[in-house]
Amino acid sequence: MMVPFVNETLVDFRQESNRDKMQEALHSVEAEFGREYPLVIGGERIWTERKIASNNPSRKNEVVGYVAQAGRAEVERALASAALAWGSWQKTDPAARAAVLFKAAALLRRRKFEFSAWMVYEEGKNWVEADADTAEAIDFMEYYGREMVRLSVSQPTTPLAGEDNRLTYIPLGVGAVIAPWNFPLAILLGMTTAAIVAGNTVLLKPASTAPVIAYKAVELLAEAGLPAGVVNYLPGDGGEIGDFLVSHPQIRFVSFTGSRAVGLRINELAAKPNAGQIWLKRVVAEMGGKDAVLVDEDADLDAAAEGIVASAFGFQGQKCSAGSRAIIHEKVYDALSEKIVARTRALEQGPADANFASGPVIDAKALEKVLNYIEIGKKEGKLLLGGEAGAPDGYYVRPTIFGDVPPQARIAQEEIFGPVLALIKARDFAQGLEIFNGTEYGLTGSFYSGNREHLEIARREMHVGNLYFNRKCTGALVGVHPFGGFNMSGTDSKAGGPDYLLLFTQAKSVSEKF
Ligand code: GLU
Repeated sequence: MMVPFVNETLVDFRQESNRDKMQEALHSVEAEFGREYPLVIGGERIWTERKIASNNPSRKNEVVGYVAQAGRAEVERALASAALAWGSWQKTDPAARAAVLFKAAALLRRRKFEFSAWMVYEEGKNWVEADADTAEAIDFMEYYGREMVRLSVSQPTTPLAGEDNRLTYIPLGVGAVIAPWNFPLAILLGMTTAAIVAGNTVLLKPASTAPVIAYKAVELLAEAGLPAGVVNYLPGDGGEIGDFLVSHPQIRFVSFTGSRAVGLRINELAAKPNAGQIWLKRVVAEMGGKDAVLVDEDADLDAAAEGIVASAFGFQGQKCSAGSRAIIHEKVYDALSEKIVARTRALEQGPADANFASGPVIDAKALEKVLNYIEIGKKEGKLLLGGEAGAPDGYYVRPTIFGDVPPQARIAQEEIFGPVLALIKARDFAQGLEIFNGTEYGLTGSFYSGNREHLEIARREMHVGNLYFNRKCTGALVGVHPFGGFNMSGTDSKAGGPDYLLLFTQAKSVSEKF
């Protein structure tokens, strides 16, 4: 009998024993810096001439590891392996497929400090953020394993006398999983294991800034007993293999998490059939956000300030759920702004391994982009805090707050994906709602209010996939807050929810007349 799903408990780093374990894991991971990792195709480890170096954003001269770089020939080879593996994997008992996920979750639970330590070094996550990522990865596997078991039986249909009718969900085929760097374990494993537990096989392209933790995830699945060829690991350049992979006629579906620009390109490429293609490709895309926290005149201002700062600056704002706008009722605007600035000023910045509240952004390109938006912001609003780069040994940006930002300003409309918060003043609740909905995105949002009437209006009118009342807008829990957004935020595919696995299946109805 399977125990019901429960979310993985987060590590309490106030306990000395846990801090010791984390330090130990950091030391052993550091001792592995600079190692090389191969591609994995059909279970074979393949070395290539070209390599991708993955750096530590906290100390940019430190190389965490080098991974082999796939070209188009390797993609073709991986497609053949994935197609071959699909032949038997699609017929494997769904409970046996689920068991691989449960085993992988158990292995990961035993090694959680080690996996978190890799993310501390490779992505610049502080301990709490890295641990939450690892816990979410465990949750996804435990959740999707159970979901597959639930969906593996014939589904209810209307009875018809004299006929046996069965509706079952069958897999799609070979898909591409294009994973992000910001939740490099949780989202990568969530996307991958959802697809494979449903009976598909995949070509996994990790982000070029997070390929080592991705390799560790692929190794974990192999250790859990996943047959060769079900997941093929292919780091590579987006321009060179990303488009090729998405356009390939043998690819049946694409599961993507990343920016709006890349999501739109994937959607466009996938829509065009190529010679030999006999299906419409399915695209599952989770894209950006310009998420906001809306604050009513009667809100608890300390709670709101705490939620706004956590939403805006957790992992340096590098979440598609990040609350990069705070829309505040004019009556409490001054008082709340002060509280937000004071709390943000207290965030100390430094290397992720030393567990500072504020760490680096992911790479040089991100640093440049964020600093560029800060310059734009200086013309659009009033700089209240930060506004510059931090220490030069890593990719640091000071947590930055702009006040009196007009709702249509670029920094209030475009996703920055960094530690930049725009404070926007609203005349009243109605105008606040209008500003809240006034972007092309629709991923997450929060509303701080004690007014029941307003809360009920907000429930209906705030048009985002994940809406929270009187709490921060980041940190969706698997199973508890199925995650995905509207409009340019993507296909609202609700990861960690009861509809997610269906996206990687097609329903077949078989009717037998007696
Ligand atoms: N699920 C995460 C959260 O709720 C965000 C995922 C993302 O940034 O892609 O904070």
